[in-house]
Amino acid sequence: MEPRIKESDPEPEPRQKIDLTNTEIAFSHKSNSELKSTARLFKLMNRPWLVKLGSSLSLFAVKLRLPFFESIVKSTVFYQFCGGENLLDCQTAIDKLYKYDTLTILDYGAEGKTSEEEIEGVVEESIKALELAASNNSVPVISCKITAFADNDLLINIQNGKVLSESEKQAMNKLYERLSSICGRASELGVGVFIDAEESWLQEPIDDLVVKMMEKYNKERVAVYNTYQLYRHDKLEQLKKDHQAAIAGGYMLGAKLVRGAYMEKERERAQVMGYPSPIQQDKEATDRDFNLAVEYVVQHYESIASCCASHNAGSNLKQAELIEKMGIDPRHPHLNFCQLYGMSDFITYNISSQGYNVAKYVPYGPVKEVIPYLIRRAQENTSVTGEMSRELNFILKEIKRRGI
Ligand SMILES: Cc1cc2nc3c(=O)[nH]c(=O)nc-3n(C[C@H](O)[C@H](O)[C@H](O)COP(=O)(O)OP(=O)(O)OC[C@H]3O[C@@H](n4cnc5c(N)ncnc54)[C@H](O)[C@@H]3O)c2cc1C
Repeated sequence: MEPRIKESDPEPEPRQKIDLTNTEIAFSHKSNSELKSTARLFKLMNRPWLVKLGSSLSLFAVKLRLPFFESIVKSTVFYQFCGGENLLDCQTAIDKLYKYDTLTILDYGAEGKTSEEEIEGVVEESIKALELAASNNSVPVISCKITAFADNDLLINIQNGKVLSESEKQAMNKLYERLSSICGRASELGVGVFIDAEESWLQEPIDDLVVKMMEKYNKERVAVYNTYQLYRHDKLEQLKKDHQAAIAGGYMLGAKLVRGAYMEKERERAQVMGYPSPIQQDKEATDRDFNLAVEYVVQHYESIASCCASHNAGSNLKQAELIEKMGIDPRHPHLNFCQLYGMSDFITYNISSQGYNVAKYVPYGPVKEVIPYLIRRAQENTSVTGEMSRELNFILKEIKRRGI
């Protein structure tokens, strides 16, 4: 991501050892009343039965278009996890993040679009987001999902090596053009595009397309980033191979590192269909490969622009410590950190306070569109063991520290 040093910034203070448990820094962006209402929300989300009920009711209410439903969502979870309903709405969140030295990655939350009209709408929205990013030096990147631009079946058929029908060939050409128009515009405007990783059974054509985009648009600077899911046992090797291919092809690699979001689904499908699961055997193996990938991208930061997209304290600290140990400028545009808006503030603000490039993924979109995203965030913050979530623990610690 491009540097975003404010003109008024003084010389950076010498860095101290990062303490992720510092709740004063983690929540300095929240007033007392904001902090208390966040605590109330996380306490509600801590209850599995309530989240389960809320999730089912939300989907039902969206289907029935119940009029009061939007205002309930807006007065509870929406603004905790989303920047707003449209780009204009997001400006408040963008400015507030920037005030606390944190960048924004805009993420239009539409999912599962299939009609041509809807898909064109997502492309237009992505171009608008790029234009906003270009005029705003606190928004270096936008994020896109290939499945928002094409039907899943098309990607699955390509991955399975099926002979494509004429209409499928046309749809594939259209997908290429759509992605090219977004990445090309990003390149012209000096902005970046993160392409999300999805399920393994449609990821191969996504990888192929993103490599094509990188070959085209990552010559002078990195405009396009692919996503590597390190919960897959083949992805550390893939990262290294893609890097070697980029060097041979005369372009730079863009690599967003994640652990991966579809573990249960992946394992279940592999078992039902009787093929070896692409997922690592256990969490330790995923953590090991994620941290090795962090090491790899930092060591090759001149030819790889990367982002540690994770809420794992150890992995974020590892990246920061490596940058420090290698004596690299922490604001080098190739070395970045990112967390989701409304989550893991203890990581985001404690790391950004030490001068590293940290961003929040800020989803936005009409309430009914972002409901699936909000349900996933609520489920993640639910306590399965009966203990408080990590987020809630930190919030309560800060409330106690402030004596409010
Ligand atoms: C900014 C951002 C962007 C993201 N973009 C994407 C994306 O494009 N595609 C995508 O798939 N995900 C994406 N994610 C989600 C991400 O993949 C993880 O699901 C999520 O961040 C949790 O992992 P973690 O690194 O934060 O930390 P942790 O909480 O330490 O790790 C949890 C993760 O470890 C893995 N894991 C857990 N148990 C096991 C086990 N038994 N065996 C093997 N592995 C296990 C799973 O991946 C699980 O999600 C993104 C996350 C962030 C923060």
